[in-house]
Amino acid sequence: MNRQKQIWLVMLYAMNEMDGGGGRRKDVLAHINSRGYWKKNDSNDAIRASRNEPVWRNNFSFEREHLADAGYMQPGGNGVWKITDSGRQHLSELIGEAVRQPDGAGYTDAFSQTLRDEQDLTDDLLQDEILMEQLAAEDIPKPEAPPELSSAPRPPRTAVARRNGHAYRHDPAVSDAALMRAGNHCQIDPAHTSFLRRDGQTVYMEPHHLIPLSKTRRFNVDLDREQNIICLCCTCHKQIHYGRREDVRAMLEKLFLPRRQDICAILGRDISLEELFALYENP
Ligand SMILES: [Zn+2]
Ligand SMILES: [Zn+2]
Repeated sequence: MNRQKQIWLVMLYAMNEMDGGGGRRKDVLAHINSRGYWKKNDSNDAIRASRNEPVWRNNFSFEREHLADAGYMQPGGNGVWKITDSGRQHLSELIGEAVRQPDGAGYTDAFSQTLRDEQDLTDDLLQDEILMEQLAAEDIPKPEAPPELSSAPRPPRTAVARRNGHAYRHDPAVSDAALMRAGNHCQIDPAHTSFLRRDGQTVYMEPHHLIPLSKTRRFNVDLDREQNIICLCCTCHKQIHYGRREDVRAMLEKLFLPRRQDICAILGRDISLEELFALYENP
């Protein structure tokens, strides 16, 4: 990936991460600086005399024009830098490219790691499936009633390396308890049915993490909590991962609003429905 693309990637990434998709030029540059996304060295930090600012900031400002010409940033002056929808699209392409070709980066190793973690969003269904296999294979002792829930945030689980990225560990017993607490009914519509599990008694339902585990870094808490796990029939589960945008939004609204307080409690901060939509739409 050439230097220009790397700068585009860091700029688009930073704007996408900021509330409202960007901000004033100086705030976007300060964000990049404080997150440590771009490598610091003597030549990057040297002051360019004609502009009286460090070389890297000057280079980023120069690329702003190219990004606006390409339609990836909103045009116009006033020193406001904002990403566009097509910029978000391009961002996910650039992330994919950077993860495949990690060499010769102008950005830092920490940023490179962040990108690999982000890439896991596309693997969320795969992670769910690993969990479902565990649920089917392990004979988890069933308590009489679901245990009492704690609502305080817990520290994040550590990511474990996997063949194609990183995964966050999940505990099948937590998902099992969440399904039990949901009465083992699809939480989109309790009339939805499915087949019987091998035990011949339990209807097969699937756990889904409302806030994807791959967002653990962003929230910096454990997301594998009962409050965050939804019970879905197979069709609804596939739909929430692969369905049309408007249908997914309707599902998220229905699932999220009744449990919003519980989710905010385990996150240790507020989260809006719009922010939840964005987690599903802007990897
Ligand atoms: Zn899922
Ligand atoms: Zn369903």
